[in-house]
Amino acid sequence: MYRVGIDLGGTNIKVGIVDDLNQILIQDSVPTKAERPYQEVLKDMAELVIALTEKMNIKPNELLGIGIGSPGTIDAKNGVVVYSNNFGWENVPVTKELGKYFTCPIRISNDANCATLGEVRAGAARETRNVILLTLGTGVGGGIVIDGNIFEGAHAGGAELGHTSLILGGELCTCGRKGCVESYTSATALIRDARRAAKNHPESKMNMLCKGDIANMDGRIPFEAAQNGDAIAGEVINNYISYLGEAIINFVNIFRPDVVLLSGGICNQGDKLTVPLSKYIEKGCFAGDKAYVPEVRCATLGYHAGIIGAANLV
Ligand SMILES: [Zn+2]
Repeated sequence: MYRVGIDLGGTNIKVGIVDDLNQILIQDSVPTKAERPYQEVLKDMAELVIALTEKMNIKPNELLGIGIGSPGTIDAKNGVVVYSNNFGWENVPVTKELGKYFTCPIRISNDANCATLGEVRAGAARETRNVILLTLGTGVGGGIVIDGNIFEGAHAGGAELGHTSLILGGELCTCGRKGCVESYTSATALIRDARRAAKNHPESKMNMLCKGDIANMDGRIPFEAAQNGDAIAGEVINNYISYLGEAIINFVNIFRPDVVLLSGGICNQGDKLTVPLSKYIEKGCFAGDKAYVPEVRCATLGYHAGIIGAANLV
């Protein structure tokens, strides 16, 4: 039997057909062009699903269902995108509209939730059933898998781990609140802090790596400069590890998962990120060495996690 997993993104709609072993058998994408009426976006989505199933000779009765991962606030129970900044969507009845083209069950969840489930079923947390994932990108998405299933909350807007408070009255967050985990641990926040430090310390190697213009700062530069012995960059990275470490400790103290996963471009740093983080959280989790402290790992499936996770919604 087969399931369809869809990663609905701001730029592209990625569709994959997944088998019982969570292998992606075939995949393709179409541009989202989200400024169009949602009916047209979802029609393109349906047509791509139909094209791929026909290519694979999959009959309607061999299709177990279709799952969609979408950014934004999702009402999973009713299949509605309540609000998505990326598309400018409000109360879009995705599963109902897509249901005009298919007879199989259709489900939707937040994209970070789907990525977490994908990593649990087929990726970096394959042997586990209780996982917390933070997607460290422009913002910070959160996913919670409890006993093998996504924790959705009773209503839309749960599992937003990035929008829990870290610093009272701290940096302004995209959500309007101050001091959220996102406003200290996103790639955007790391770049902001690196820029500030480079500006205040012209001698920092980060300035050279930015070719003299801090507009060129990216998430890799402070790591590289710190690696080359730059004390200012070292401080930026230590602060970043502390922010992320404190956030993870909070989540460990609530959920005590098997594993904590991280994803996003910062994961390219590999051990330079996970080793100091693991040391940090070992010291801070409640009950110290008398309790289980989960390993911090980087996600391994990339965008495939979203497709596989979405397929596993059904
Ligand atoms: Zn926030």
